[in-house]
Amino acid sequence: MAEVLVLVDHVDGEVKKVTYELLTAARELGEPSAVVVGSPGTAGKVKESLASYGAAKVYVAESDDAGSYLVTPKVDALAALVEQASPAAVVVAASAEGKEVSGRLAIRIGSGLLYDVVDVNSDGTTEQSIFGGAFSVKAKVAKGTPVISVRPGSVEATQADGAAAEETVELPAVDPAKAAKITGIEPVVGGDRPELTEASIVVSGGRGVGSAEKFEVIEKLADSLGAAVGASRAAVDSGYYPAQFQVGQTGKTVSPQLYVALGISGAIQHRAGMQTSKTIVAVNKDPEAPIFEIADFGVVGDLFNVAPQLTEAIAARKG
Ligand code: FAD
Repeated sequence: MAEVLVLVDHVDGEVKKVTYELLTAARELGEPSAVVVGSPGTAGKVKESLASYGAAKVYVAESDDAGSYLVTPKVDALAALVEQASPAAVVVAASAEGKEVSGRLAIRIGSGLLYDVVDVNSDGTTEQSIFGGAFSVKAKVAKGTPVISVRPGSVEATQADGAAAEETVELPAVDPAKAAKITGIEPVVGGDRPELTEASIVVSGGRGVGSAEKFEVIEKLADSLGAAVGASRAAVDSGYYPAQFQVGQTGKTVSPQLYVALGISGAIQHRAGMQTSKTIVAVNKDPEAPIFEIADFGVVGDLFNVAPQLTEAIAARKG
């Protein structure tokens, strides 16, 4: 069976959910081999979970450098493996970092990049959602080793047995003059809430929330659901919520099981970041708001009336 390389997305050996989605997508194309790039000892922490999502092999590219540089060691490791293993494809998360890795890799190996795909088919074609989700495109790389970046949350991860046979990859030393180095990692605001692009539920507020203080209503609803909090650009630009939580064309792309939009009109640039959510619930006091065109469930009403009732009802259900 053809080998498919999957770049493991992890933070200090803690595997991100999207990795399991990538392994699941890769199984459509062949036999997945996970590629772990990080500080010494990383592979030991992640191997077992990679095996349970079907990784037949685990390529281990570890060095002190790999832990302290951003994308360079990942691109180096993948490029070396493409040369060595001639895989059928390379699959990477369409996260901020994954997008950069996939772009650089495609250039390095002289191949085509299928960017931000939402589904992978066994014939090698992929689906992309474009123009804010207005169109779906089917595309395939005709030459070279396809590099595929998959949107987090768009593929449902399913388990499968994999042998996870370890193989070491020698990494070239990083040239500090040419690579971005990590100088420090600080926890982002957001407390115990799930990371926005990884969350299975996202509750977002827009300009309709009206102020930073009132965003508490959105946070309370999010916390009752164990959700991440998102915001429209208008809410961010108005200073209601930090920019790292912006959803949309110039913010994060999310594809959760449930997306709740409160006080968001549904501009095309916002839709671009959330339209592939599995179920969309919108609360807006304007019955003509475009968000209702894509909502599975809509409530025409004041969010300050609806959201607290929802929070209370969810709390009551939890008992
Ligand atoms: P508005 O459009 O002002 O909508 C507010 C909504 O709240 C209205 O529908 C109103 O009826 C409703 N409302 C008001 N009060 C209440 C209440 N009490 N209860 C219920 N409903 C209420 N936008 C993004 O979101 N993300 C992006 O990444 C992004 N990128 C962009 C990139 C470019 C190049 C450009 C040009 C624009 C971009 N935008 C982006 C901006 C986008 O065009 C919209 O301006 C923005 O999404 C609007 O945000 P909003 O829906 O919160 O605000």
